[in-house]
Amino acid sequence: MWLDECPSFWDEGRVRPLVTESGKVVLMCDSCSAVWPTLADFKEMEHVEPDEPDWAVTAGVHVRPGTFRWASERDVEVAGMSGLKWRP
Ligand SMILES: [Zn+2]
Repeated sequence: MWLDECPSFWDEGRVRPLVTESGKVVLMCDSCSAVWPTLADFKEMEHVEPDEPDWAVTAGVHVRPGTFRWASERDVEVAGMSGLKWRP
């Protein structure tokens, strides 16, 4: 499921919800490396670009390869984001 197209004008990726190892749901582009820690950050176009070695998104939240998974409808519901216009 995805929320919107990546706002980067050179990128055609889609912004998808992702469950991090800590359990926090963040938004990440499936093409470039942009991550939005919260929905508010996405609306304000305040992204971060996690990178080696810590892949940090915010304190205590990281997207180290192999530690996260794309979110399901249930994950999004639990995160309080089910009211958004998710596309299948
Ligand atoms: Zn992107």
